[in-house]
Amino acid sequence: MKHNFGAGPCILPQDVFKQAAEGVLDFNGLSILEVSHRHKDFVAVMDEAISLVKSALKIPEGYSVLFLQGGASLGFTISALNMMRSGKAGYINTGTWSTSAIKEAKKVGCDVSVIASSEDKGFNYIPKNYTIENNLDYLHFTSNNTIYGTQYQQFPKTSLPLVCDMSSDIFSRNINIADFDLIYAGAQKNLGPAGATLYIVKDEILGKSSSKFLPSYLDLKLHMEKESMMNTPPVFSIYVSMLNLRNTVSKGGVAEIEKLNIEKSNLLYSEIDANPLFVGTAEKEDRSKMNVTFLLNDENLSSEFDQMWKDSGIVGLTGHRSVGGYRASMYNALPLSSVKVLVDTMKEFTRRKG
Ligand SMILES: *Cc1c(COP(=O)(O)O)cnc(C)c1O
Repeated sequence: MKHNFGAGPCILPQDVFKQAAEGVLDFNGLSILEVSHRHKDFVAVMDEAISLVKSALKIPEGYSVLFLQGGASLGFTISALNMMRSGKAGYINTGTWSTSAIKEAKKVGCDVSVIASSEDKGFNYIPKNYTIENNLDYLHFTSNNTIYGTQYQQFPKTSLPLVCDMSSDIFSRNINIADFDLIYAGAQKNLGPAGATLYIVKDEILGKSSSKFLPSYLDLKLHMEKESMMNTPPVFSIYVSMLNLRNTVSKGGVAEIEKLNIEKSNLLYSEIDANPLFVGTAEKEDRSKMNVTFLLNDENLSSEFDQMWKDSGIVGLTGHRSVGGYRASMYNALPLSSVKVLVDTMKEFTRRKG
């Protein structure tokens, strides 16, 4: 087996892959791929997926959980359109995905105020100590910056409605849903296979958009009323997400997974800090537990190191094409043993060079 440090689509537990494969061959006598999404057997899958999301994240009353499509990339547009009131919104820019969210909000007519940005230092930190105007419709931020390896340890404090792209760290740690008005996340980085996009939305924000342009398909209120079945949902992605959520619950839920994620990231960051050949790229206090970004101090050693980790069975360690270096994505299903293999490879590399 390979050790998959890829940034997404994510690794999922082997048991889940097995059950998913079984469902392709036999789901109550049909394949999950051919069953009607209106059939009671699939409606039961959808219902279970939604209720597992609610229990895993302790979602309070007054929120709806939706499984839609379009990825987080359409979430940029959907969130802006559904949250628009006066038409002026605040965004915190912490990297590529936030930048895209800002761009798409502007495209649908939002007057975007960039409250804070970490662009001045190549997005290697999470901005703090900024003031937020209070005449804004909402504040948007990205909880984990998949490309730059930074993550909010404490979410922004504001009385504004809070909107978050949580694509790459949802289900990785306990969060207080009541702080948020809208959360969206592509399934393929901790939840399931690509295809579905999860929305957690406070019901009271629905149906209040001031946009003159709100296609039915982008209207979260209609999706809520149709219970994520306005059209054919991404059946397989939802099915496997449900299996993965069952697996999460059986392992003790998000609280247990969070402990393991802390252990995994501590192990790798300790090695990066102790090893003279490597350097972490994110500010220590803002380091992500999901995506660990680091560099070789001497880039001339990279082909040798690359050969070594590949020989160890590691895949997906190359940094995002926009930043280079290395990125170890350690999503929920990545076992501690895989992180140990990476750390041992780094140690061995240094021993050989020393
Ligand atoms: C991967 C990612 C996206 C893009 O997701 P798609 O589902 O491919 O559109 C957006 N935001 C964050 C934080 C991501 O990690």
